[in-house]
Amino acid sequence: MASTSASAGALLHHVRTGRARSRAELVALTGAARNTVSARVDQLITAGLLEEGGRGWSTGGRPPKLLQFNSRAGCVLAVDLGVTSVDVAVTDLSAQVIASAGHAIDIAEGPGPVLAEADRLAQQVLAEAGLSTADVRAVGVGVPGPVEFSTGRPSHPPIMPGWHDHPIPHAFSRYDCPVFVDNDVNVMALGEMGVAGSDQDVLVVKVGTGIGCGVIVEGAVYRGAQGSAGDIGHIHVAQPDGREVLCRCGNVNCLEALAGGGALLRDALAAGLPVQTTRDVIELAAQGDGPALELVRAAGRTIGTVLAALVNFFNPHRIVMTGGVAQAGIPLLAGIREAVYRRSMPLAARSLEITVSAAPDLSGRIGAALMAVEGFLDEDSVDQALAR
Ligand SMILES: [Zn+2]
Repeated sequence: MASTSASAGALLHHVRTGRARSRAELVALTGAARNTVSARVDQLITAGLLEEGGRGWSTGGRPPKLLQFNSRAGCVLAVDLGVTSVDVAVTDLSAQVIASAGHAIDIAEGPGPVLAEADRLAQQVLAEAGLSTADVRAVGVGVPGPVEFSTGRPSHPPIMPGWHDHPIPHAFSRYDCPVFVDNDVNVMALGEMGVAGSDQDVLVVKVGTGIGCGVIVEGAVYRGAQGSAGDIGHIHVAQPDGREVLCRCGNVNCLEALAGGGALLRDALAAGLPVQTTRDVIELAAQGDGPALELVRAAGRTIGTVLAALVNFFNPHRIVMTGGVAQAGIPLLAGIREAVYRRSMPLAARSLEITVSAAPDLSGRIGAALMAVEGFLDEDSVDQALAR
């Protein structure tokens, strides 16, 4: 195993994720000199990021003082922008929600009015929490479209007209702190992982109008070279009957065009089902309607053929389904499992878990908060902050 870093940022990370609880454990974990570790821990305590709490068990001699992360050393703002909603939360530095507010919007109104409303809600939740602008350490924003992560600018988002290349971080400049922007699927994936420290490999697949996938590698979001990793909605799926379905991207037989929310509604209408929205199809299936169940299950099988290839390639511990269509639950999972277990290699599928998100409405906010916290407490950021 490679040696474990002992920078101040790394020591903070080890305590925050429970890998070490005292100076002695930090020394044992990192292999760094006792004086070095102690000096850096003192710096972190002075900065308010670590606290010394009670005493642990001794193996002889004075019991060690326990270290703990001070999750009240500031707060972060979590902004979850959807196609039809905006939700804003203020959380502590372990992503525990202190106050939250949100309501319906139309993302197509454009960045000006939508971001002004997000900022107004942010001021509102801060006031509710008894916090001020100066307490905010970072802002995390999730948006329903592709984003260049390094600049926080959407890149040709298909369902966010007027947002292309808009500098979203500028809308939060009053906070004088870093602003992190990512697509909703990556943000939800972080939310599904919960508080930092997990070392699992997970795929979080959102099936709504579109289909996207958050790729979690050893507990962290994997974004790829340009930030578009996990864009599985436009993977081509061969149709045995030679059917060709045009996708909004211009190609035919993309996964999204065959098994996304729009496809489900289209096929239900073609089958003569009494539905007007994708949600109607999901509800009909939930009531046990045979043809609706079969459509949901077929969508699951189509999604499953793509996931089977991903399982062979990536060998995840878990796949978590989320988004509007995933609310269909059992019939969708049945179709997905059928295809995945038939087509994946046995070793990769042996202990693979496929589940539906337990809290799809909350994961966007928790994920945005975690993105902000991870950005603020990033090893290098902490080291730079302490050096100032
Ligand atoms: Zn496509």
